[in-house]
Amino acid sequence: MVTMKQPATPKAIIHQKFGSKACYQVEEVADAAENLCPGLAIPQQTKIQYRCVLKLPDLTVSSGTFSRKKDAEQSAAQIAVEKLGIEANEQIPTPEGAFDELIARLNILFTDEFLLSTHPLVGHLRVALKREGSLFGLVPISAIAICDSKVNSMCKLIDSRAESDPSLLLSLISKAAKASTSLSTRENGFLIQRQNPVLPEAMEVLVSSQIGASNNVEIEVVRIPVCLNEEVKRFQINVPEDGYYLDVIAKYLEARDSSHILASRTIGKASSEMRFYFTAPQCLFSSSAKDVVGATDFEVAVNKRASYISGQTIYGDAILANIGYTWRSSNLLYEDVSLCTYYRILLGQLPDGYYKLSREAVLTAELPSSYSRATWRGSVPKDLLSLFCRNHRLYQPVFSVQKVASSQSNNTNSDNTYLLRCEVRILSRREELLIVCSFPDTYRKEADAIQNSAMKVLNWFKVYFTQLYLLEDELHPFGIAPGECFKLYPKAILEEFSLWTSIFAKSFCNYLKPKRVLENGVVLLDIEGLDSGVIPTVGSVTSVSYEVWLVREGEEGKRYLVEKNEEFEFEVGSGAVIYPMELCVTQLSLDQSAKFTVGPPPREVILAATHTAPSDISKIPLQNCWLEYAVKVLRVAAPMEERMETALFSPPLSKQRVEFAVRHINQSHALSLVDFGCGSGSLLDSLLDHNTCLEKLVGVDISVRSLTRAAKVLHQKLSKNCPMRACLRSAVLYDGSIMDFDARLYNFDIGTCLEVIEHMEEEQAQQFGDIALSKFCPKILIVSTPNYEYNPILQRSSLPNKEEDPEEKEKPGPCKFRNHDHKFEWTRGQFEKWANDLATKHGYGVEFSGVGGSGDEPGFASQIAVFKRGLSSKEGSNGSIGPGSFCSPYELVWEWCGGNKERGD
Ligand code: SAH
Ligand code: MG
Repeated sequence: MVTMKQPATPKAIIHQKFGSKACYQVEEVADAAENLCPGLAIPQQTKIQYRCVLKLPDLTVSSGTFSRKKDAEQSAAQIAVEKLGIEANEQIPTPEGAFDELIARLNILFTDEFLLSTHPLVGHLRVALKREGSLFGLVPISAIAICDSKVNSMCKLIDSRAESDPSLLLSLISKAAKASTSLSTRENGFLIQRQNPVLPEAMEVLVSSQIGASNNVEIEVVRIPVCLNEEVKRFQINVPEDGYYLDVIAKYLEARDSSHILASRTIGKASSEMRFYFTAPQCLFSSSAKDVVGATDFEVAVNKRASYISGQTIYGDAILANIGYTWRSSNLLYEDVSLCTYYRILLGQLPDGYYKLSREAVLTAELPSSYSRATWRGSVPKDLLSLFCRNHRLYQPVFSVQKVASSQSNNTNSDNTYLLRCEVRILSRREELLIVCSFPDTYRKEADAIQNSAMKVLNWFKVYFTQLYLLEDELHPFGIAPGECFKLYPKAILEEFSLWTSIFAKSFCNYLKPKRVLENGVVLLDIEGLDSGVIPTVGSVTSVSYEVWLVREGEEGKRYLVEKNEEFEFEVGSGAVIYPMELCVTQLSLDQSAKFTVGPPPREVILAATHTAPSDISKIPLQNCWLEYAVKVLRVAAPMEERMETALFSPPLSKQRVEFAVRHINQSHALSLVDFGCGSGSLLDSLLDHNTCLEKLVGVDISVRSLTRAAKVLHQKLSKNCPMRACLRSAVLYDGSIMDFDARLYNFDIGTCLEVIEHMEEEQAQQFGDIALSKFCPKILIVSTPNYEYNPILQRSSLPNKEEDPEEKEKPGPCKFRNHDHKFEWTRGQFEKWANDLATKHGYGVEFSGVGGSGDEPGFASQIAVFKRGLSSKEGSNGSIGPGSFCSPYELVWEWCGGNKERGD
């Protein structure tokens, strides 16, 4: 467990006071030079600066910029401590004491000195003093509730329900105002004024300064009707010069005046003044002086949507507006709240919503399925999970990092004495457990352990959100590998999300279900531009530009741009974009472009995506619409593994693996070859350039995306006159798992399985060995995998400027393995044991070799085992299996038959 024991820091003071209600959001302040160097595969190192926004229940502050996140957080906490005037270990008053303090605070708010401060309430006081007639000098108490955090904290101490019930809050303030001897009240305490007149000097300063906006203000707001069937709509409100915005809002809500308006806490983006405004129920004004009443005391029609978003009880129709006086400026500040803003708030409630928003790619980005420090873009998993919890008003996630002795790890790793793993706990606001999970994965860096665990929890929530209608006994650790401890508390979980389920789940459930629209087969795209040969393969960081248009059937001429990115970077194969986008991009090469279309997501999501002309788009019925994507590949950075290999070896390691296979093909006069885990077809493609006597080429992989790419390159090469075309009779690509036997691949002359087994769990690698040698029974099987002992050499070669970088720890460095998709990397000893055991078991001989380096200590970069079927193992040693027994789970993806017949479905 990581313990925190520094009560003196500002963060600690804030924690002591607010606990999980304090939300720190650290944003990276983009450096203008933060860019990929065109032509260079490696991102330029730039200095990233951080700014922290600290959001407390009634105060939001923002730090300056710092080069360390920690400093930004402490600075924000310091500012908050100063603004709130908190001292460490301040005595927490009793409810009675708090009531006296509340009265004292109200008195202060109406003094001459206060009028000359920069407090946001001053704006309201000035308006009051400029009012004419009976309202002169009167301030609505909701203005006090909106502006003064001290008043808010006192009310919560008197009655903790004041936090979630604005009407109770107002009731308490009005009671205190009535009890004060220096204030007088009207409207049952809902309008307050001071009894002594303002000193003329103070009055002069106030009246001469400007109060409202400098001229008429038109601002866009959103109305959320109490009735769920009524649509959320936008409209404009007009605040006249020197007018009072609360009066204006009252008018639109058909309330008498500002004294009848209640406001929620601030919503959404930190530092905004966005709040829900709604009408106070009549009974608040008629309750007797002694009573303190809240929403629970009377029958009200709760506005479920607004209540859910704000976490407070809001009733009747509500207006979402961003307007108010702030610390920053004594003038009225305001910002439009568009439908887009509202739908972005909703989107932010989804487990992957903030990821999409942080990437400004609502219609394109997807939450990646795994975390890798080097290739991750957008907000990191830990922050996403914190935001998700915050938005659903759960307790902040608790990460506990534990040390594990490194001897338990599979890899010899002499420079570290221990590794780290992370447990995550998700608790409700009332600190009841919802989820406890501990993952067995270990990391060298604490940040990696935390990010990876947060990632898994987020992905669990993502699956859960597609099935919110599940019952208590149907909740499971979906998608969590066995062996990982993932404990759920179903009852508490269902309770926490019940309101979301009842209001929003319908629109979003289906949307979150993974859609593999272009599932099987080769997608034919109209590709523009010449094939540059530089292709985005799995693991490469690829940069694209794209536009998304909403097109309506029969109205193709009239199209709406709904999303656009000049430059969007993602790692191919990590699930970081919608599936059709990935399929498209992997068929393109650098500088090429293409278009594809998909059915539209729910209206809420389209409206969240679009900044432009939302009023138009919100009116289009979406039944006969589709989204058209136009994509161009701008840059392709080879995967880290490939970069390391290319930096060190010439010819590149991948080429050396092909040469190795060709030597064995020629020596053995093989006629048929199956490539297990053929990926994008790099081996099959290179073989076509060699003179071998192969007649039959087959590739199998589970990644349709890779197979699509493979089909494209093989098709291109076979339509030209490549050396192998003469003797080749057929080339076939299958979609299937090499863990399953398919009789069509039985008894081939040669099988290859290059750099595949490390992508499976170790147990599966074991099973694949058994299946390959006992069922597929190739005469020769060539298996290659990285040699873990060689990694230090590779990693050194790819990090030439290590000394120049004192903050190496903070920078994205190489991951534990060469490629973060690797489940393991074996030492020579581990690999040889695996291969020897298999060979003995299945009657094969095995020899070890490799490519990359001389083969002396510490061995080859890529280690290779060549299995040869022995005499003892007769063809198809297992009589029940053979070409005769029909067992063909693989799906044909693409086929080429000598001559020029070709099929792809
Ligand atoms: N052999 C190729 C690709 C190596 S990358 C080359 O050398 O370039 C590893 C590949 O193994 C990926 O394409 C992945 O989809 C595939 N793979 C992983 N598990 C698999 C399985 N169970 N069945 C089939 N393919 C698998
Ligand atoms: Mg690999």
